[in-house]
Amino acid sequence: MSTKIALVGNPNCGKTTLFNELTGSNQFVGNWPGVTVEKKEGKIKGQKDVTVVDLPGIYSLSPYTPEEVIARNFLINERPDAILNIIDGTSLERSLFLTTQLTELGVPVVVAINMMDVVLKNGGYINTSRLAKELGCKVVEISALKGQGITQAAEVAIDAVSGAKTVPLHCFSGGVEHTLAHIEEAVLHGLPQEQQRFFAVKLFERDKLITEVLQLTADQISHIDDDIKRREAALEDDGESIITAERYKYIDSIIKDCIKIKSIGSQSVSDKIDKIVTNRWLALPIFALIMFIVYFISVSTVGAAATDWANDGLFGEGWSFFGMWIPGVPALLGGVLEFVNCAEWLKSLILDGVLSGVGAVLGFVPQMIILFIFLAFLEGCGYMARISFIMDRVFRRFGLSGKSFIPILIGTGCGVPGIMASRTIENDRDRKITIMTTTFIPCSAKLPIIALIAGALFGGAAWVAPSAYFVGIAAIICSGVILKKTKLFSNETSPFVMELPAYHIPTFKNVVRSTWERGWSFIKKAGTVVLLGTIFIWVSSNFGFDENGFGMVDMTDSILARLGSFIAPLFAPLGWGGWQASIAALTGLIAKENVVSTLGILFGFSEVSENGNQIWGALSVDFSMISAYSFLLFNLLCAPCFAAMGAIRREMNNAGWFWIAVGYQCGFAYIVSLCVYQLGELISVGVFGVGTAVALLLIAGFVFMILRRPIKIEN
Ligand code: GDP
Ligand code: MG
Repeated sequence: MSTKIALVGNPNCGKTTLFNELTGSNQFVGNWPGVTVEKKEGKIKGQKDVTVVDLPGIYSLSPYTPEEVIARNFLINERPDAILNIIDGTSLERSLFLTTQLTELGVPVVVAINMMDVVLKNGGYINTSRLAKELGCKVVEISALKGQGITQAAEVAIDAVSGAKTVPLHCFSGGVEHTLAHIEEAVLHGLPQEQQRFFAVKLFERDKLITEVLQLTADQISHIDDDIKRREAALEDDGESIITAERYKYIDSIIKDCIKIKSIGSQSVSDKIDKIVTNRWLALPIFALIMFIVYFISVSTVGAAATDWANDGLFGEGWSFFGMWIPGVPALLGGVLEFVNCAEWLKSLILDGVLSGVGAVLGFVPQMIILFIFLAFLEGCGYMARISFIMDRVFRRFGLSGKSFIPILIGTGCGVPGIMASRTIENDRDRKITIMTTTFIPCSAKLPIIALIAGALFGGAAWVAPSAYFVGIAAIICSGVILKKTKLFSNETSPFVMELPAYHIPTFKNVVRSTWERGWSFIKKAGTVVLLGTIFIWVSSNFGFDENGFGMVDMTDSILARLGSFIAPLFAPLGWGGWQASIAALTGLIAKENVVSTLGILFGFSEVSENGNQIWGALSVDFSMISAYSFLLFNLLCAPCFAAMGAIRREMNNAGWFWIAVGYQCGFAYIVSLCVYQLGELISVGVFGVGTAVALLLIAGFVFMILRRPIKIEN
């Protein structure tokens, strides 16, 4: 028989860190709430028959968001054999609110007070035996980060499985207890004794989902409702507030005796840093500066040098190493293929197809690794959480939910988990807007496109990459403002409260883990989706019909060129009507890395590499700065890759909404690119044509949509 232990606790209390330590797995740990939105299972190291389940963080058992529903449903439907309740030792009071509810479930509960390293460093003290007596369950102290006390915590939890079920020691006030007893007697006596209390409390709070689960008859509902109403009238409050208030009163009463937190006379270091970093006026400039520095280093200077080496050296002619000339992969591979007498077409497929395409993508790996290290550091130290806090202020000003910033933050890595993270948003319409707009932010697969355009056409200018992020954020805000003024999406936005974690130096292990995971998934994709894509592109750009019938032809006669020329006119108003660019944008819908690999093949980049600056030189023949930027914007904003579209489909859970989302993204991208290109041409060369007129009209329409009055909200 296998044993199941659930890790339950508030967001950001260290559940996933503990989970990773216990199971030896590599789940993502971020220093902000809302990272784990699905449950994950794993076996405890050395204990094959014990499964631990990492649940999304919750503040209470009254769920408001889909992820909270996941966590609660797991607890009441699958009933784990024991609950290991992780508590942030630095904010006991808030954490115990959940604990008081967990003890009512009728499942053995063990409390693990985490972050003890911080508590002790601050000179705090927690009387665990006293707390255990008050709560009626075992209490242990751990530090998941330092790996202290975790095996013991797991052992205590495993022991608890065979022990007695935890019985809540907390009593509500007399009248409330009386009503709860009534409810149990009237409608819950069919349930096992130890589960009745939880359901009684939920019914008292008029929890809709629970009422549905229990399938009460109308008679039963009205019977207990009379009872509850009487109690509410007597206490002059509604059921839910009565329960909440009494829980906090109880926590207050036990907490005084159990903990000693050294009064911190002066502000903590974190508070001091936050005074500056989240300052009303300085926050945004500091954010912009940090972004600029990160991208200056990773895209423009160190990273660019690394990428030049990868593109010109490793995947190019070769490089000299202490005076020794080391040939690049194409030369080496070409030599080998020559040696084994490889057929011409196969040689071309391998060198001009696969190597040009996959090599073009892999060439950006060094740059991305440097960027990922920075991002992992910013995440781990707690600055990313500040960004959502800062952006929340901005978002709120525009009537948008600040909560949508966490999906966006996660979306900078990959759109798929970003879209999934929208589950933390309670309001259904806000959630849909977030699902639709999250992928506007550049994910890591879009970075090579940005780096390519920045390098090939803007001389590696450091502003190009950050500008992509600011365009992404602006697109999200503008979309939000516009969409909220339509019938489909109008609603009031609920406030967003976020705990800011204390700053700390991230552990080396976490930075390496996060960098490695992102980098590796990128490399993996180059070896799978991108590889297949390059083969397809090579075949379709080398075969076609000419005067001799079907066979290998000049690229301009190929099937791909025909197809590209057919769709190219669609993109001509955006400034990049060449068939190659149109095809590249299309292949980007499969995976964004394909944009670069396709360009790599179609512009034959391995042949142009006479010197470093020439590497992507062929591109600057087809693109001007303005059209290249328009191309960049289109690829950033249009529908994401298949994987992310799949995530949109799943999270929307409705085909109609999926098409609305994808249609909106493509339409929005088209309009933005059109306006940027047409206005750019107007300003730089003074060209005024039909396109310019259309762009001006679109901009006027856009301004109208932004400024028009919100429609009345009826519900
Ligand atoms: P979750 O949201 O509950 O899954 O929390 P995570 O496991 O993602 O951890 C949130 C943050 O708390 C991360 O930055 C961890 O490094 C940090 N953390 C976790 N456990 C400890 C601990 O025992 N001590 C300290 N100082 N930090 C911790
Ligand atoms: Mg987690």
